[in-house]
Amino acid sequence: MISIKSKREIELMVIAGNIVYQTHKYLEPFIKPGVSLLELDGLAEKFIISKGAKPSFKGYEGFPNATCISVNEEVVHGIPSNRKLKKGDIVSIDIGADYKGYHGDSAWSYAVGEIDDDKKYLMEHTKQALWEGIKEVKPGARIGDIGYKIERYANAHNLGIVRELCGHGVGNNLHEDPDVPNYGSAHTGPVLKEGMVIAIEPMLNLGSDDIVVEDNDWTITTLDRKPSAHFEHTVLVTKDGYQILTGE
Ligand code: MG
Ligand code: MG
Repeated sequence: MISIKSKREIELMVIAGNIVYQTHKYLEPFIKPGVSLLELDGLAEKFIISKGAKPSFKGYEGFPNATCISVNEEVVHGIPSNRKLKKGDIVSIDIGADYKGYHGDSAWSYAVGEIDDDKKYLMEHTKQALWEGIKEVKPGARIGDIGYKIERYANAHNLGIVRELCGHGVGNNLHEDPDVPNYGSAHTGPVLKEGMVIAIEPMLNLGSDDIVVEDNDWTITTLDRKPSAHFEHTVLVTKDGYQILTGE
């Protein structure tokens, strides 16, 4: 069942989403060669707590940290470690905040120093694929319209689409109905209604679609070890269209 949020719930989700957005902005200047993934995770956790929220991911299905940090060929669910970022890496940081029981969820990919043109291309077009999906959101549109636009854009730019993972509803659970795949057919799937909240999150690869799960049972990497990018916003369906809860 897809929940319709009350005015009170939406107020809490606006705050949760804004905390996630602020956490990304806070971390950005620290994302430099030499910083370790655990340092970034610790900074994010402290910041989220300082805003009166809790990191949504910590303890979620046993996940050990506040953030998921995935480098280069890692797609999602990277576990922060002592690994230090190097110039030329791209790093995707996925952040969730739980404010009074309601969640915000947003991932962003960042360049570490100067990156090569292939990685720039991947990041630019994965971010644009997110916008292609978001632009579809309005009452009466269907979930398949979002996936259709993302898939079409990724195909037009020769990027692999991770199909095993998808966006999702967000509310007092981090992951709720409906699934929001990054592929699909227009005019299919659940109908969007005012008051629904969904996370849209294309994960696109410079190479093929295929992924593997690493031995830690969390981290997903591309099978061909080519880089992957991830951009995600939590989006409210409004009367006329949408409101991004995890952005400005
Ligand atoms: Mg998500
Ligand atoms: Mg996320």
